[in-house]
Amino acid sequence: MESSHPHPRAHLDLIPLGNLDPLAVSIIGAHLQAVLGLHTQIRPVRVKPDYAYMAVRNQFDASKIIKALSTENDGAPLKLAVLQSDLSIPILTYVFGESQMGGKAAVVSLHRLFDIDRQVIYLRAAKISVHEVGHLLGLEHCWQAGCLMHFSKQLEQLDRLALGFCESCAYEIARRLAPLL
Ligand SMILES: [Zn+2]
Ligand SMILES: [Zn+2]
Repeated sequence: MESSHPHPRAHLDLIPLGNLDPLAVSIIGAHLQAVLGLHTQIRPVRVKPDYAYMAVRNQFDASKIIKALSTENDGAPLKLAVLQSDLSIPILTYVFGESQMGGKAAVVSLHRLFDIDRQVIYLRAAKISVHEVGHLLGLEHCWQAGCLMHFSKQLEQLDRLALGFCESCAYEIARRLAPLL
């Protein structure tokens, strides 16, 4: 059956929200492509999501951004938003990223990934992005040390993770990606 999808090859739309380093966005896209095999399309920069701003905390509410993105019917079936500003959900003090488990939309922030060495920031950004897209594909946190689906609250934990999956997560990812590719 012919698809009427406007971007038939794109599996994931990568959506910058507000000003951020365009190289970070390109590197995230390249890793989603290389590690997961997802055809990723970088979409035009959008304005910051005012509707999700929590003024008291000077943070953006990740769940509101995800909810808004998941109601969009155009573009690719999966959507990952990236922003420079700090991200949280009401019950936590911050999150690196947040994802709709097995859903359509996820969001990551570069805010807490800072390092003097920009290469370190890019690697961290790639890791949290592939991790959140792993959740989008339905994967839960993994107990295997070093696996990218392992939960990390601190940068030191994130830095210890590989930019790849343990054998069982890799198997699950391939299984869940098969119908998409
Ligand atoms: Zn996670
Ligand atoms: Zn794993």
